[in-house]
Amino acid sequence: MESRICTSCGAPLVIRNRFSKVLVCDYCGTHLKIDGDTLTISGRFPKLAGFPSLFSTGASGTILGKSFSILGRMRYRYDGGYFDEWFLDFDGGNAWLTEDEGTYTLYSDLMESVDISEIEPLRAGQNFLLGEKKVMIKEKGRAVVDGGEGELYFYVKPGTGITYIDAVSEGKKVAIEYSDEEIEIFSGRPLMKRDIVVSGGE
Ligand SMILES: [Zn+2]
Repeated sequence: MESRICTSCGAPLVIRNRFSKVLVCDYCGTHLKIDGDTLTISGRFPKLAGFPSLFSTGASGTILGKSFSILGRMRYRYDGGYFDEWFLDFDGGNAWLTEDEGTYTLYSDLMESVDISEIEPLRAGQNFLLGEKKVMIKEKGRAVVDGGEGELYFYVKPGTGITYIDAVSEGKKVAIEYSDEEIEIFSGRPLMKRDIVVSGGE
């Protein structure tokens, strides 16, 4: 844990994870880029509205018997509504958990990346190779970042459009997300609600 001061409003802030790229000030809503000892203002956005969820930023508990704590959350808007990505300290490493209308997927393994130009033309139902692994695309869509809170280690500014792909490879779920500049590919597994125990909050 590291104590900081919000560059915008002067509020005391804490950084819990050394991999976090952005910290959202709880008090004024400013998104601050973490660059060594410097916090640079990336923008000020409205706070995310509360909504019913098992989770909240600052909550902790266990997933599949391993401990987690929630560092932050990024919310996306798409044609079908909203989905959230919760950023976790999970079993001593980083992970994120997607929550979409009561379904939960835990992504904890960063996969080899590819050029966005290779992914862009692909459609649902098609296969491609990621290194040695064959990946099948199940769904591809567009979403817009609605906002964030807490600490984020995958960061896109609110208002930015991204493409998301749900895919499968060797029995695992694969999530691909890319904006104009950045791409992230993770593999993970679906969770049942009973796999998740939330035991504490802040
Ligand atoms: Zn602030």
